[in-house]
Parts: sequence; structure tokens; C-alpha cells
Amino acid sequence: MTTTHSHGAEHRDTHHGRPTLAVWKFASCDGCQLTLLNCEDELIPLAREVEIAYFPEATRAVVEGPYDVSLVEGSVTTPEEIERIQHVRAVSRRLITIGACATAGGIQALRNFGDVAEFRSIVYAHPEYLSTLSRSTPISAHVTVDFELRGCPINKHQLLEVLAASIQGRKPRVPTHSVCVECKRRGNVCVTVAHGTPCLGPVTQAGCGALCPSFDRGCYGCYGPQDTPNTVSIATRLSELGMSEPEVLRIFRTFNAASEPFRRESERHEPDPQQASRGEEVPG
Ligand code: SF4
Ligand code: SF4
Repeated sequence: MTTTHSHGAEHRDTHHGRPTLAVWKFASCDGCQLTLLNCEDELIPLAREVEIAYFPEATRAVVEGPYDVSLVEGSVTTPEEIERIQHVRAVSRRLITIGACATAGGIQALRNFGDVAEFRSIVYAHPEYLSTLSRSTPISAHVTVDFELRGCPINKHQLLEVLAASIQGRKPRVPTHSVCVECKRRGNVCVTVAHGTPCLGPVTQAGCGALCPSFDRGCYGCYGPQDTPNTVSIATRLSELGMSEPEVLRIFRTFNAASEPFRRESERHEPDPQQASRGEEVPG
């Protein structure tokens, strides 16, 4: 049976015996949800295996929870989202976070290093209407998360593997080693060793298939830190390659700026406040 509610959502009340899937959005750009829609060839077979029960980006039809698997995109940036993620957790048997926003706070976590009130007053004509938190935080800072899938955006093959593993009740086969391993597997020449190109591949988790180095570009870390990242060593190498301290700081402050290893490393390259103030005192 289908019922249309006043807010336009249609509620269906059958699960057809298949596991139910819900897809939720928090502070994000929707790119990771689009990865699911971009599955194209796999989407119809997937819809035969799972019931897509809640996915506002794709359909207004809603099957009431609880849900077997929830995919959560985006970070927590407002007081309302703190409450909403508790609800999502309560109605989800397995909760999987997808993308750099949900797993590390995303690019919007750059606010964590500044003054959010100042940003707000510069960006919005009427900041008094906004209710926002001073920090962008990953979903795992608020509720228990069963699995975190990295990337900005996530990789579709990894997403399908995680969904298949959830349905089959097994551990997903998602590597935690570095992008360098993927470069070696593809037979890529190392962009840093051969061309002196700064690259975060050694400290970044695999999953993209070494996309950037395969096109002679350095990795900028969109999959976040690998399981044992030696950020101090790579930062030293980046400096040797000619990057200034502010440039080293910035390379660690992108999509995964608030992930613990990248945050710590970027803070090591912040100007010493005493030195900075001494510099200001020197007459020009
Ligand atoms: S992780 Fe990247 S692609 Fe995914 S929602 Fe966040 S900004 Fe968009
Ligand atoms: S090489 Fe690095 S920056 Fe490029 S897609 Fe892969 S993880 Fe992201």
C-alpha cells in the first residue's frame, strides 16, 4: 500500500523480504550519493537484492524504517544534525559512512582551524539567521559507525563491495594500505622519484586506483590517511622538493584536514606565534 503525506513523500509499507537500504545526507555536496546513482549497470541488479527504502536524492517514495543498512553522507555542522544522526542510528541495523565529509568532517572542517563567526559574517548577508556549530565533525564523533568508506568522492566498486559485504554479513574487502601500492600494481613510474612532483600517495589510503599519479599528477590525499601514515617523513620530503611551510600546511588541509594524522601534521607547519609577532615588530 502507498500513502502520500502532506510533505510530498510517499510511504510504502512492504519490505518484500529483501534487506532495506536507506541513504541519508548531512553537510555535503551530494557527490558520494551520486556515486551510487552512477552505478548504472549495477543499480538494477542491486535493486533486486535490496529494497531502496529511503533515498530522497533518487525518489520521494519512502518505506518506513527500521532499515537493515544505512549509508550516511556528510558531516555534522548544525545542532539539528546532532539530533538527526541519533535518529538515523536508532533506525539503522548497520550504519556505514561514505566519503571524506562523513568520515573526517570534509572540506567544511577547515572552519575548525578558524573563527566560524568571522567566516559566517563574511559569507552571509544576515548571519544572525544561521544556526551552525563552530566545528564540522565526522559521524563517528556522535554515534557508533559500523564501517567507514573513504574518498572524495567514494569509489563505486568499493561502495558495491561494502554493500555486498553488509548484505552477506561479512567484512568488506577494502584495503587500508597506501596509494603507492596501487601505483606499483599499475606499473606507474613514481611521480615524486622520477619527476620531483610533490605527492601524498605514501600517506594516503588506496581505493582510487592511483588515479592522479596515473595522469602524472601528485596525490592530494582525498582518501585520507592510510593505516600507518608517516606524515613527518613525507612533509620533510615535500620541503626538500621546494615546498614552503605554508604550502606544506595547505597540502594537509584539504578534504581530510580534520583527520587526526593530517590535522596534527598541518599544525606542525603553522607559523610560530612568537616568531610571527617578533617578525611584525621588525621595522620594514
Ligand atoms: S566526500 Fe567529497 S564528494 Fe562526497 S559529499 Fe563530501 S565533498 Fe562531496
Ligand atoms: S590519487 Fe590521491 S588525490 Fe587522486 S583520487 Fe587518488 S586518493 Fe584522491
